[in-house]
Amino acid sequence: MKNVKHYECTICHQIYSKDCKFMTCPTCGEKGILEIVFDYEKIKKQVSKAYFKNNKIYSIKRYLPFLTVDPLYFNHTLNVGWTPLYKSTKLSNDLDILDLYFKDDGQNPTQSLKDRASIIACLKAKELGYDTISCSSTGNAASSLAGNAAKMGLKTVIFVPKRAPIGKLIQLKAFGSNLIQVDGDYKDTFKLSKESIEHYKWYNRNAAINPHLVEGKKTVAMEIAEQLDFKPTDYVFVSVGDGCTIAGVYKGFYDLMQVGLIEKIPKIIGVQSEGCAPFYEAFHNNHELRETSEDTIADSIAVGIPRNPIKGLNAVKKSHGTFIKVSDDEILESITLLARNEGIFAEPAAAASLAGVIKAKKENIIKDLNSVTVIVTGNGLKDPNAIKERITNWLLLKADINEVKKHIRNSKETI
Ligand SMILES: *Cc1c(COP(=O)(O)O)cnc(C)c1O
Ligand SMILES: [Zn+2]
Repeated sequence: MKNVKHYECTICHQIYSKDCKFMTCPTCGEKGILEIVFDYEKIKKQVSKAYFKNNKIYSIKRYLPFLTVDPLYFNHTLNVGWTPLYKSTKLSNDLDILDLYFKDDGQNPTQSLKDRASIIACLKAKELGYDTISCSSTGNAASSLAGNAAKMGLKTVIFVPKRAPIGKLIQLKAFGSNLIQVDGDYKDTFKLSKESIEHYKWYNRNAAINPHLVEGKKTVAMEIAEQLDFKPTDYVFVSVGDGCTIAGVYKGFYDLMQVGLIEKIPKIIGVQSEGCAPFYEAFHNNHELRETSEDTIADSIAVGIPRNPIKGLNAVKKSHGTFIKVSDDEILESITLLARNEGIFAEPAAAASLAGVIKAKKENIIKDLNSVTVIVTGNGLKDPNAIKERITNWLLLKADINEVKKHIRNSKETI
């Protein structure tokens, strides 16, 4: 917390000391999510392009001056972050976009961007002397917390909705988490976790409520900037559920700009699913966020009541971006496009961002000469069932070379 000035409520803008013990604004209640305000003059003296050039730490720890955690426990963590940023050749050509990049956050230790927040939650819990952390999650925050906590010797109690994909559930059970699957949707799950956390006084990893988690998620933007030599692309596309990830993307670029490391913040485009698009509706119809159904295969962004509306909307407004919504069909199509052309296998919510790019290009929101980064937030093995029916031509042959020859002779596809 050395470089932190204070907390500020995102609703009433009341300032609170950085030593305060509450997570949300006492005046505004649970909706009064706090923003962490940094002392950029102080950070400016610690970082520079040369500082990063000479930095040999390839994890989110390299951004320590911008984080709110004590470095003390950082040596006993998983290696979160510093995921690859790939320049596209094939899809950039097909989509007619001059510069197209994919930030593959499915390569984090538990295969999603959520690791950037979970590691911070675990570090904070350690610092504050907790032994148990809890959260509710559509799946990835859960398996991510379970993995990071396992490495750091913390216990976890995790609430997930009934429909969470099996890959994520098996993953978190394997990490030894206490799993509570809730007979209900994400809204019911969130409520139950909140009540339980209050009752048992566990450390709270619910990303919208805990202000430190956005600070972990922001490292994805810092990496994108650094990997592009501090000249980030015109646009960054990211899928949106609760709104914490997109808030982190904005905060990362904002911080870098405050200390003079980048000159502009990319336009941030939030992508939602047609079956669950509360941010899209609120943004385009200029009203407050309203509860929607959670009807999409992209389970990680099926969030009917987003918990971080203010920070999520601000990310798009302040960066002059927009919200786009895509159909489940477009998402499934994007999974195979990304896999076949770029070698990146994404889960549905993670491919939604590419579906958003395709739509934005068609609707002329982005132009041929623009540069674009697509954040791929989670790995496809998390939920292989989602695209199973799209995979055709399953083949089963007798173990005989003549069978192979016959097959290849008759096959229309070139092998
Ligand atoms: C959580 C998640 C998102 C969305 O993040 P929010 O903070 O909920 O907006 C997108 N993609 C994947 C794979 C996720 O796990
Ligand atoms: Zn307030």
